[in-house]
Amino acid sequence: EAKRSGRARYVVFDPLMRSQVSDSVSLENDLRQALDNREMRVVYQPLVHLPGHQLAGVEALVRWQHPVRGAVSPVDFIPLAEACGVIAALGKFVLETACQTFAQLQRDLGSAAPPSMSVNLSRAQLREPGLVDMVRDALRSADMEPQQLVLEVTESLAAQDALVQTTLQELRAMGVALSLDDFGTGYSSLACLHELPVSSIKIDRSFVNLLDKSDYHRVLIEATLRVAATLKLGTVAEGIETAEQATEMAAMGCQKGQGYWFGRPMDVEALVAWIQARQPLEKIA
Ligand code: C2E
Ligand code: MG
Ligand code: MG
Ligand code: MG
Repeated sequence: EAKRSGRARYVVFDPLMRSQVSDSVSLENDLRQALDNREMRVVYQPLVHLPGHQLAGVEALVRWQHPVRGAVSPVDFIPLAEACGVIAALGKFVLETACQTFAQLQRDLGSAAPPSMSVNLSRAQLREPGLVDMVRDALRSADMEPQQLVLEVTESLAAQDALVQTTLQELRAMGVALSLDDFGTGYSSLACLHELPVSSIKIDRSFVNLLDKSDYHRVLIEATLRVAATLKLGTVAEGIETAEQATEMAAMGCQKGQGYWFGRPMDVEALVAWIQARQPLEKIA
């Protein structure tokens, strides 16, 4: 009887479930190799001032080109990298690559180069004991001022964690700018904003997206911008896809914008071309 129920239970483990488990295990193994195999690269998306649209900086975004699966989204592999301990090496690769790119852009473009480089940090990275030293080393080897680096963190990880708070304070003390990414999602609260050592916030693209469809989201954006102004925090709207969204965010007082309307994430060559193509326009404006 026991044997029979045991077998019955075994049958309950359905093939779909098993294939999903082995799927994520194989992706995890591939992820461990991806850096060595040079399958990871970094692309850059512009941030612009509102309303003038002058270049305000660029954000580094990692890309994984899997040899069989093709492009895998960071939304899928960053959590996996955190779970299997690859995030430290991956994060170091992105930070070092981004800082070296920043230095290259200064050399190649001079005064037209982006004034800052933004790099995303995930929760696991903010808990790594060596993070602050790694940031200092990356800045030094790129001959970059701490003020030229913006580290983007998400709100859910910043709050209520003493270790993370200490790390953020150390980065602030070094002079690195901190930006609160995806603001409005997760367990964010306008009431807690003053407790975080950030210098700017990025309003999540889901809010920008609903700007002209939902009064609720519009009011929340207005409230967020007002609180940010009171706290003297910089403001960035992400996911701007239309001219109307750009105009409206500017009219509401948001300082910077980012999104497909201005420029998609690009490799360095395309970014340089994008910046150079805009130069004459900026001189006229
Ligand atoms: P994020 O930091 O909020 O980055 C913005 C995401 O929105 C990027 O997706 C970008 O390509 C996308 N995006 C930008 N403008 C628009 C737009 O106008 N419309 C739409 N629909 N999307 C837009 P991506 O590159 O797939 O990255 C997704 C997330 O993965 C990032 O969100 C970030 O949280 C994470 N991520 C990306 N690169 C890294 C990295 O190097 N390290 C860490 N820790 N996380 C990263
Ligand atoms: Mg970001
Ligand atoms: Mg964001
Ligand atoms: Mg986002």
